[in-house]
Amino acid sequence: MTEEIASRDAYRSSAEGRVVAVSPDGVELDRTVFYARGGGQPGDVGTIRYSGGEVEVVDTIRREGKVIHVVADPLGLEPGLEVEELIDWDRRYRLMRTHTALHALSGVVWRDFGAKVTGGNMEPGAARMDFELESMSTEFGREVERILNDELVKGYPAEVLFLARDAALTDPDLIRTKANLIPEYVTEIRVIDIVGLDRQADGGTHVRTTLEVGQVRVVKTESKGKANKRMRIELL
Ligand SMILES: [Zn+2]
Repeated sequence: MTEEIASRDAYRSSAEGRVVAVSPDGVELDRTVFYARGGGQPGDVGTIRYSGGEVEVVDTIRREGKVIHVVADPLGLEPGLEVEELIDWDRRYRLMRTHTALHALSGVVWRDFGAKVTGGNMEPGAARMDFELESMSTEFGREVERILNDELVKGYPAEVLFLARDAALTDPDLIRTKANLIPEYVTEIRVIDIVGLDRQADGGTHVRTTLEVGQVRVVKTESKGKANKRMRIELL
């Protein structure tokens, strides 16, 4: 199993590791600073350096439970080789801000309008989230934007918790956000708690406080079905 540094420390942008396996399209490491695509958050990109060269990581994915650093050509990489890992930190940090903005958005829409999230996705600086709502007007979008921005500047801390599965499955916030859908072999559930605003099972990387998100703009509201409405946001 690869040690995944971002799971406990999202602010690391580099690390040292060792190559475990190499395939034509990817490299497996014993520990990694790269985030593997999942939960709506894209995988990290960056560089793997070794004595004598470097390869560009164009994506990071999870395949059969393994973290695969996708490379165009694994060049001189071979099992046992020590490497230096560097992620594109500007991109990752924007993703952290975007991801935390989405959780804050889901918290606000649930608290003030009672609507659950049905899906979401993000790229650096922009995201969409779908809600179980019958209607969503432009005015509604403006109102949510105002409330969300008022909350973000309050600086809610965003904490990473690891809960035993039994405890997680009796937590009302985690029930609402469907922690029960996490595969049964996962005995320790990772939770992102934006304390007092939103709490959900999540594998992604987040900023430490909503202050780091900055302000957000609701750029579009659209219908994706009778009880499914989409909101698109951007970081300012
Ligand atoms: Zn998330």
